[in-house]
Amino acid sequence: MKQLPHIEAVIPVYNEAESIPLLVSQLDRARAALASEATFSYLFINDGSSDGSTELLRTLHAQRRDIRVVELLHNFGHPAALACGLDYFRGDLALFMDADLQDSPAVLPQLFSEWKKGAKTVVVERGERPEKNGILFKAFYFLLRKTSKNLPPINFGTHSLLDKSVVERMRVHKERNRYFPGLIALSSSQIKAVPFARGARKHGESRVGFWGLSHLALTAFLSFSSAPIRLVSFLGSLCALGALLGASIIVSVKLFTNWAIPGWASTMSLLFFSSGIQLLCLGILGEYVARIYDEVKGRPLYWVGSALEPQKRVNDASVSFLYSQP
Ligand code: UDP
Ligand code: MG
Repeated sequence: MKQLPHIEAVIPVYNEAESIPLLVSQLDRARAALASEATFSYLFINDGSSDGSTELLRTLHAQRRDIRVVELLHNFGHPAALACGLDYFRGDLALFMDADLQDSPAVLPQLFSEWKKGAKTVVVERGERPEKNGILFKAFYFLLRKTSKNLPPINFGTHSLLDKSVVERMRVHKERNRYFPGLIALSSSQIKAVPFARGARKHGESRVGFWGLSHLALTAFLSFSSAPIRLVSFLGSLCALGALLGASIIVSVKLFTNWAIPGWASTMSLLFFSSGIQLLCLGILGEYVARIYDEVKGRPLYWVGSALEPQKRVNDASVSFLYSQP
């Protein structure tokens, strides 16, 4: 009998105790629709949760044989948890999704049917973001797509179904400042998008938060677009041109007229303007330097505290390969 493809859902978790039970039951429902076509398991990356998620995941792991849990030593952040998910994934297809119920498991049959048709990378295309910073996200995606040559014109995040071959390529990317959708794009020949509305977070606030998202946005820009460093040169040239123009006006006024050059106010505003631009440029360079320093340190992206593999029992043929060590 032909072996069915194995889908492993890879889910980073940071303080999601309120969402996990519903998430697991939604996933169970979605997989039931594919029961005759694929086998299924869940890989939770517990990113140093402190709200009871750890205990909940341990209980689930003890009760079921299709659940694996990797517990990170402490909180390393969403991108690091995803990197750990890439490393620990075992199966033919990885279903990446968040634990906060914003990514619906209901879209799985559509994603799977695209994979059956031959797509190796299937992403969930987001519609309008329900978050309050929706307009900022829109501006971010617009600018990023306009200034990057590696990203397709699709608005997508981590929610995706990736063939093993794509995961294997993504594993090779060892950079510390990671933009997951960008890594998907770099590791895929073609991306199939399935539109699906993203829900609002069901419990609590975003765990990544506004500053975390801003940092991620900056990482995306700095690693997938050369626009920021070009902006520095552009602003520098603009200022130099402005200064040249200003100087020629001043010299002409001095040489050809007997007007007095007015102005403390204009001198000061020019001074503020040019020092503002200089500080902005320094800041942009600083962002690069900080990221270069991060890469040079070569620290591991995450440390695993413990990996809870499924308990082996007889009659578990469908998930038997999960028992072998990675
Ligand atoms: N998450 C994580 N580590 C963190 C922050 C978040 O593993 O330090 C997980 C979180 O539990 C969720 C996913 O990453 O499953 C996305 O987080 P969040 O919903 O806060 O991000 P947003 O949807 O606001 O971008
Ligand atoms: Mg979320």
